[in-house]
Amino acid sequence: MSEYIGALDQGTTSTRFMVFDRTGRIVSVAQKEHEQIYPQPGWVEHDPLEIWRRTLEVIDEAVEARGLRAKDLACIGITNQRETTVVWNRLTGAPVYNALVWQDTRVADYVARLAQDGGQNRFQAKTGLPLTTYFSGLKICWILDNVKGARELAEKGDLLFGNIDAYLLWNLTGGINGGVHVTDVTNASRTQLMNLETLNWDDEILGIFKIPRSMLPAIRSSSEHYGDMKRTSLAGVPIAGILGDQHAALVGQTCFKSGEAKNTYGTGCFMLLNTGEKRVISKNGLLTTLAYKFGDQPAIYALEGSIAITGALVQWVRDNLRMIDKSEEIETLAQTVKDNGGVYFVPAFSGLYAPYWKDTARGVITGLTRFANRGHIARAVIEATAFQTREVVEAMEADSGISLEQLRTDGGMVQNEMLMQFQADILNRTVVRPQMRETTALGAAYAAGLACGYYKDTADLISNWAVDRVWKPQIEDADRDRQYKQWKKAVTRSFDWID
Ligand code: ADP
Repeated sequence: MSEYIGALDQGTTSTRFMVFDRTGRIVSVAQKEHEQIYPQPGWVEHDPLEIWRRTLEVIDEAVEARGLRAKDLACIGITNQRETTVVWNRLTGAPVYNALVWQDTRVADYVARLAQDGGQNRFQAKTGLPLTTYFSGLKICWILDNVKGARELAEKGDLLFGNIDAYLLWNLTGGINGGVHVTDVTNASRTQLMNLETLNWDDEILGIFKIPRSMLPAIRSSSEHYGDMKRTSLAGVPIAGILGDQHAALVGQTCFKSGEAKNTYGTGCFMLLNTGEKRVISKNGLLTTLAYKFGDQPAIYALEGSIAITGALVQWVRDNLRMIDKSEEIETLAQTVKDNGGVYFVPAFSGLYAPYWKDTARGVITGLTRFANRGHIARAVIEATAFQTREVVEAMEADSGISLEQLRTDGGMVQNEMLMQFQADILNRTVVRPQMRETTALGAAYAAGLACGYYKDTADLISNWAVDRVWKPQIEDADRDRQYKQWKKAVTRSFDWID
């Protein structure tokens, strides 16, 4: 048996390839960013060919850095930014348009039109999702309606749709020369086209959205042998795991029991609560989604609270306001003041996701006085992540009837200790950071490792998890309540900005 397993982690801002040993330790890693394309307010695109080039580069770089060869890797898992939509030609491999990124809001008119007939939750019972700009289905509609000739080609059977997982899998397994067109249940659950019960594409919804079934990948489990690598120095290695990034983080955090949850702090924040074989339909603005499905075992479901903008707000302060040079400097800047000085920042840049689902909200900074300075803004930026997370935790507890004792965290923002302490303070719960923060890539590697026999079962994985640091709440109840009330008031100021 080979010594290592690999994971390709194609995220919103960058693409990584990681090699892990059996204990989940990182043996090698390579990472490359790709361009964020903003053609107009509310639009966000990626170039799929750039992502494909970065994928090939990071795999070869990570493998060469440690002098590894294909035989050293038992198998590979793929994890990816979810919902982001690619449509390409099966005969040439060429994308017909840039990828429409999950944060893109250009389909707001489609949402409004479809919601007129049956309301925003008309597809919730089948798909677990409200009508919003977030999911892939309407992004496919936009491409078919707006790219010249696309609908005819799609109806002829020449176009393929994929989220980034399926696009990369197809290319890695041979592309126009026999590439495998497959996705897993977690990615499929974010298209708004899959029926959560049957785990198949839903003909009624495909009819309403006018999407030809021939474009869609076959839906498979998250842990099985899909095909072998045909490209890069790893040619011949089996690809045996696919999980959307947030589902991968749940697996990487080994939340395998019903009632276990994790919150990932990256570009956005995504909390997933494992609800076992039960599909809980939310009454409080959460999504019902697949947690994972390992091979022939039953599908496991989750409740999800998605927040679009958290780390992305830090990036915005860095790149658009140029208040800091590096993301981590937000913490030092925030430490120059003792509190937020009454300033609250609601980053509704892509509308508001959970628990509000308001496409027409836009960002606001409230409570400004002449007293406020850069430090207060920095503090408000950090606090926005924690306030939004509390809103999601409250919704989750109301929907599930489960009281979370502690919050397991991961993602790029959790190195920010001010954020972790404030999260514990504002939630009034213990916040736990595990030693292994790259849980997304690790989860994909785990799914692959289970399929190819590298790991025996989930107990093998649970024994790899260990705590790094714990934060306890330190503020008075009255202070917590006052701040949260101010936040809630600030949120209402962001509503209904777009007519
Ligand atoms: P993704 O997987 O969504 O691309 P990551 O988990 O790699 O994101 O996290 C990167 C995000 O975390 C960026 O948005 C960045 O601004 C933010 N970030 C990184 N370090 C810090 C920090 N010390 N404080 C606050 N935010 C940070």
